[in-house]
Amino acid sequence: MNINKNNNVMKKILVVGAGLFGSVFAHEAAKKGYQIKVVEKRNHIAGNIYTKEIEGIQFHQYGAHIFHTSNKEVWDYVNQFAEFNRYTNSPVANYHGEIYNLPFNMNTFNKLWGVVTPKEAQEKIAEQRAILNQKRPENLEEQAISLVGTDIYEKLIKDYTEKQWGRPCTELPPFIIKRLPVRMTYDNNYFNDKYQGIPIGGYTQVVEKMLDHPNIEVHLNTDFFDKREQLESEVDKVVYTGMIDQFFDYKFGRLEYRSLSFENEILDQENYQGNAVVNYTDAEHKYTRIIEHKHFEFGTQPKTIITKEYPIDWKPGDEPYYPVNDNKNNKLYKKYKELADKEDKYIFGGRLGMYKYFDMHMIIHESLKHVNKYLGD
Ligand code: FAD
Ligand code: UDP
Repeated sequence: MNINKNNNVMKKILVVGAGLFGSVFAHEAAKKGYQIKVVEKRNHIAGNIYTKEIEGIQFHQYGAHIFHTSNKEVWDYVNQFAEFNRYTNSPVANYHGEIYNLPFNMNTFNKLWGVVTPKEAQEKIAEQRAILNQKRPENLEEQAISLVGTDIYEKLIKDYTEKQWGRPCTELPPFIIKRLPVRMTYDNNYFNDKYQGIPIGGYTQVVEKMLDHPNIEVHLNTDFFDKREQLESEVDKVVYTGMIDQFFDYKFGRLEYRSLSFENEILDQENYQGNAVVNYTDAEHKYTRIIEHKHFEFGTQPKTIITKEYPIDWKPGDEPYYPVNDNKNNKLYKKYKELADKEDKYIFGGRLGMYKYFDMHMIIHESLKHVNKYLGD
């Protein structure tokens, strides 16, 4: 039996997954006096926000991660664990060698059409939007044309989106494109959020600090399903951040995901593309973007690391990066969620446990909310 300093028996919690959701939960629960065991099937902590140093550069192993939020509480929370740099995401698009600024803003409109004022840009978009005959957009193609006109749709959206999602824009829901800002100002900042940056020293140390507590033990290379009964029998509660359909042995069928393949290269040159993120918006390049990691931290190392990102159809065994929140999958998720809600001992959290795409700031917010709900203030 474990007794804490106030002579109380310490309740035990198992956290499945050492990603951001599980680690925030573990950290907060440990501070409240719970005893935590974290099991992680990978050979490292931090889940998909994992970074490691190569050639003096923080390398984002599972895709580029830029922290951004307008939530002050979340920003203050994460700043306990690291100092953030002043990185502002301003990707550029490469369409057959032509370079355009993103998100769509006056710089993009000027380069494309030679327009100078917001009024001229709006007129140009209105002129191109006319082909929709004021129809309410019913798919991504119509939504995109309605927002920015046909030229931008053809050069910067159509092929990129079809590579990303593996189907025609006419078969995709309009909301996917709605989250991209369209600005009538000369502002290349991709996000509208109040706070933005990259943790100096990388993301892994943030999670390391969260898990560095005498009440927390971490077991790497440990798949929950390999010793489920034993692990469950040792604890009062389980926080599960793996795939929800796997938890229930896929009894209603499998949820679908989109996956990614990353092709990494270390190059013997100082600067490959002059920007952290370059999107390839034509069909000629099979990857959607190239990341040059050092530019997230204004690196001046003699070498550089680049990653080409290829979206792929997910099949069992691949990394499930993005939940596919279409009607079919959302319906299936609902059935699993109904089962999950009946499980008193279990808390389902995170991107896989809740089958929803969450940015990091949302994950921190959700995890803190779950701590309050299940463990009290
Ligand atoms: P995860 O990080 O997936 O953690 C879950 C952990 O559980 C994993 O480590 C997994 O190995 C482990 N696990 C699963 N099953 C088991 C099991 N059976 N036993 C033991 N362990 C198990 N967010 C941003 O805010 N900004 C960005 O720029 C950004 N870019 C992104 C780019 C890409 C390519 C992707 C995929 C995501 C991006 N995100 C970004 C989102 C961000 O990655 C997530 O918000 C965050 O990682 C989710 O944390 P999580 O703990 O829910 O999931
Ligand atoms: N998008 C696009 N061209 C770009 C960047 C984005 O058409 O250069 C579209 C694409 O459909 C994408 C959506 O905008 O899925 C949302 O983009 P965001 O960068 O928010 O998400 P991600 O590309 O990471 O899915």
